[in-house]
Amino acid sequence: MLVTDARARAAYAEAAGIYRILPAAVAIPENRDDVVALVRQATESGMELVPRGAGSGMPGGNLGTGVIVDLSIGFGGLTVDPHNLTARAGASVTWARVNEAAKPYGLRLPPDPSSGDFATSGGMVATNAAGPRSVRYGSMRRWVEALEVVGADGSVRILERGSRSQGRFTLTPDSRLLIPARFPKTRKNSCGYALDRFAESGDEVDLFVGSEGTLGIVTEVQWKLDPIPPHTAGAALGFADLESMSEAVPYLVSLTPSAIELLDETLLRFVPEAPSVACLLLVEFEREDAAAARGVVGDAVRGLKTSAVHVETAVNRAGLEQLWSVRRLASPALARLPATQRSFQIVEDGCVPLDALGAYVAGLRAAAAQRNIPVAIFGHAGDGHVHVNALPDTTRDGWRDGLAALFEDVTALLLRLGGVPSGEHGVGRLRAGVLEQFYGKAVVDLFRGVKRAYDPLSIFNPGVIIPANDWSPVAALKMGAEAAVIPDDIATRLREVERSAAWATPKLELTR
Ligand SMILES: Cc1cc2nc3c(=O)[nH]c(=O)nc-3n(C[C@H](O)[C@H](O)[C@H](O)COP(=O)(O)OP(=O)(O)OC[C@H]3O[C@@H](n4cnc5c(N)ncnc54)[C@H](O)[C@@H]3O)c2cc1C
Repeated sequence: MLVTDARARAAYAEAAGIYRILPAAVAIPENRDDVVALVRQATESGMELVPRGAGSGMPGGNLGTGVIVDLSIGFGGLTVDPHNLTARAGASVTWARVNEAAKPYGLRLPPDPSSGDFATSGGMVATNAAGPRSVRYGSMRRWVEALEVVGADGSVRILERGSRSQGRFTLTPDSRLLIPARFPKTRKNSCGYALDRFAESGDEVDLFVGSEGTLGIVTEVQWKLDPIPPHTAGAALGFADLESMSEAVPYLVSLTPSAIELLDETLLRFVPEAPSVACLLLVEFEREDAAAARGVVGDAVRGLKTSAVHVETAVNRAGLEQLWSVRRLASPALARLPATQRSFQIVEDGCVPLDALGAYVAGLRAAAAQRNIPVAIFGHAGDGHVHVNALPDTTRDGWRDGLAALFEDVTALLLRLGGVPSGEHGVGRLRAGVLEQFYGKAVVDLFRGVKRAYDPLSIFNPGVIIPANDWSPVAALKMGAEAAVIPDDIATRLREVERSAAWATPKLELTR
């Protein structure tokens, strides 16, 4: 059951993101009983388990020195219940498959990660994934009705939203007071256990969503579905400076858009077809009738006529796809960068209160300039949530220290602006060591309490969310002289997977 062959281990040594960590072994369970047996074996032997879906997660929660448990293959069951607006999906089922199955009934899973073709149900729950439409529909958390999980004692439990079942972790009255005071006021947050949501709902589901494989293994998800709105319209709005863009965002949010995406000039420079503006907002509105969809685009354009310097509108889905093509063109352009200019996702997921968006993008640009690291900035403006690809020249001396310094600069910036270091990708290993700066020691002690309650022997993903003693954001990088040695052909294939976002590829295929 455990594959310890060196080539297989190498194929699982990388994921999306910046790390390369060789696991001790790989397990590919075929069903829930296999998972239970594996967990029991781990509890008896002290073996560490790293649950893993497609491996598309960025901050290293899908890597480790223990046993990788590949859940992307054996858990493919999927049924849609159109009457109850739910879908029951095995952990391996991708967002795209859930939506393909729901579409004939006029239904969908509304949050739309751009990794939806390969991100698995288990992975999306574990990271509390999100996407452009989260500005209206929230992150995955809101759409999780129930979970089947295998706990550290090998028990299989069904956690249902609203059941308020007696869980393994309870909040004291003092901690109930602490949580609202210490949790950041951002619209999105994938940083640590969601004690704020748990305090409100009392649902264990809220502890498991976003727990990044540290509390148990998710084998099945019951998703809540939503009717697909029939009419869509939108606009591309260009701005000459960050200030006018950030002032426009709250106005656009007040019009109830289904997406407001930001493309900063640092990204637009990679797309020759893009308008020459300091930043571009791509806005989507979904409405029940066509006139309402067109009408709200008119409101958006009229309301911003003195601040937008570039305006294009679309009155239907096809037109909108055309407007948004500029966003899609950026990814292949970045993938074509020379081999020496790798894209590092080290400060890639910060989220700030909406009124701090302009200051955050300006601060990111300044930090990158000071560290002499080119960046490409884009994101989900309506949620104050910004992605950054750091593009250091890895032939230059000191590029690794530069990245570490950028990480520190951006952490300080986020702290100053009341933000969080992850809006949707999670903490992983990358950000585990800074959580205390954001939440304070008392909340991180509560996080440790949650971990102890569900996983007392720390068999699930040690070092993720709760930091390892020797934590460093730039340890175990996939690039550079210190990178773990793996066979060249596998390294090349992993690089190709990364460049082409082929995360759906079964990883053992990389060994052949
Ligand atoms: C090109 C690209 C675009 C992306 N776009 C988005 C985006 O728009 N929005 C977004 O939110 N993310 C995005 N991501 C990040 C990533 O796709 C998401 O985090 C996704 O939810 C990860 O799913 P996965 O199946 O790949 O999980 P993995 O990467 O394999 O795992 C992620 C985490 O979940 C845990 N985990 C996985 N499966 C289970 C399970 N069954 N039980 C318990 N724990 C589990 C792992 O231990 C790990 O901590 C993107 C990534 C790439 C490469």
